Amino acid sequence: MRLILLGPPGAGKGTQAKLLTDKLGVPQVSTGDILRQALADGTEMGRKAKSFMEQGALVPDEVVIGIIEERLRKSDCARGYILDGFPRTLPQAEALSRALRSLSAALDTVLSMEVPEEDLIRRLAGRRVCRDCGYMFHVDTHPPGERGLCDKCGGALYQRDDDTEVTIRHRLQVYREQTQPLIAYYDNMGLLKRIDGRGTIEEISQRVCQALGQG
Ligand code: AMP
Repeated sequence: MRLILLGPPGAGKGTQAKLLTDKLGVPQVSTGDILRQALADGTEMGRKAKSFMEQGALVPDEVVIGIIEERLRKSDCARGYILDGFPRTLPQAEALSRALRSLSAALDTVLSMEVPEEDLIRRLAGRRVCRDCGYMFHVDTHPPGERGLCDKCGGALYQRDDDTEVTIRHRLQVYREQTQPLIAYYDNMGLLKRIDGRGTIEEISQRVCQALGQG
């Protein structure tokens, strides 16, 4: 199963991707996670990406395309993967199509997760992430248990630097301008399925599974 989760920041791509990895037995490939790890490790790629990420801007195409080409060649991707946060621009989508052709592979589905903008801002501003396992919480709708630690692994939670209101608004504008056109791109290829991304994690997960015929 080669799947893209497409949608604005805060649509729930990461949360649903994590649930799907267990169900489908294929890895989540998140360029955002790979970049944040590179930043934490202080690698050259991390240093290049830092200022773009802090401002909520996109990291240049050639950097993320390089990351994805390398990641998709790894053996755990042989049976498929869930792309979360890639592609985000038309050149990235075209590079992915080329990379897939060269591996004689094809995408199965592109799920567009659709959520109104007011909900996205509320979700992102209240989001807290586990530093150890990446599991996500929300201060109002999905709070962590006692002591404010991760329910899954006990790790410490943090707020992403780019989850502040000014940066969130910029990320949403970038999404509208650069990523939203991919909906039509994949619709024209006959791969697009739209999902109502409102509601609880479980409700959205049910819709995702139904759309993928895994219901
Ligand atoms: P995310 O975790 O997907 O919200 O990504 C966090 C940040 O990483 C974004 O705001 C961008 O700065 C950068 N990033 C992640 N994926 C991409 C991508 N496909 N293209 C460009 N920048 C990206």
